[in-house]
Amino acid sequence: MSGTLAGFESEAGARGRAAAALRVGLRTARLAHAWLLYGPLGAGKRALARAFAAALLCPAGRERAEACGGCRDCRLVQAGTHPDLQWLEGDEAQRGARVQTLREAIAELALAPVSAPGRVLVIEQTDRLHPAAANGLLKTLEEPPDGAVIVLLTERVDRVLPTIRSRCRELRLPAARGAASAEHAAIAALLPRWLEHRDAMEGGAWVWAELAALARRRDEEAGVSSEPAALRARTRTFALWLLDALLERLRLLVREAALSGGALGPLENALSRVEEAARQIEGNAPGPLVLGVLAERLDTAAGLRSVLQRLSQPVQSVTQ
Ligand SMILES: [Zn+2]
Repeated sequence: MSGTLAGFESEAGARGRAAAALRVGLRTARLAHAWLLYGPLGAGKRALARAFAAALLCPAGRERAEACGGCRDCRLVQAGTHPDLQWLEGDEAQRGARVQTLREAIAELALAPVSAPGRVLVIEQTDRLHPAAANGLLKTLEEPPDGAVIVLLTERVDRVLPTIRSRCRELRLPAARGAASAEHAAIAALLPRWLEHRDAMEGGAWVWAELAALARRRDEEAGVSSEPAALRARTRTFALWLLDALLERLRLLVREAALSGGALGPLENALSRVEEAARQIEGNAPGPLVLGVLAERLDTAAGLRSVLQRLSQPVQSVTQ
């Protein structure tokens, strides 16, 4: 099923992980009151936020970690007219009006819900909030009204105030797949060759250069000249795809270990290291260094690097 939390959760990669975290959150007695979903344009932030909001507003949503899809609250969410759901769109033309709109939305958040178990506020393009609006939001995040949940969306998490970020559960969404699948395959193919480098720092520099070369080739094939800034941004995006490919393999190992009763600790540790590296790359940290340090840490996590490298090798055909 698409458009449901379970549908998103079944996907491999960071979006599946984000959906899983939201579902765990729904089942938790003390649900986090603020969430920050970030990722590039087209990553599915709005779709995931809508599914999460629906689950929060459906009377059965917390227990099932999913909206039922059939009740009155669910139908109102689908129609976009639920009185307890406020959704501030990211239209740039409205920027001037957003301070007032946000103030009203926050005031409404403190009122008792009309029909749902609680109220939900979704804010798109949180990085573009006027400073006055951001301050108002910060106050609400510090003292959230009972039962209210705020979901923030952004493409530029590095531009969101650190004080806002520190009060949210952050979930990263990867770039959408599909049209660019040939590029994804080329990037995933770099994984084993990156991880086989004995010197982790050298490997980081090598794979970054390969990603930059792929980015340049893409521009050449499209017949456009590569602006240095655009090229750097694309190299970062490609690095995030590389880390997504790595996350997918780690998740395979987690699944195997869970089935066989193996140790999960080093794997969980490695997962959070990869997520951390992704956040650093999004925050414009030096890519070769981030990837080098990550490879080194995978080594200290029980020689995980060589395991991942083997797992990334293409399967040999028996007819060869
Ligand atoms: Zn429902």
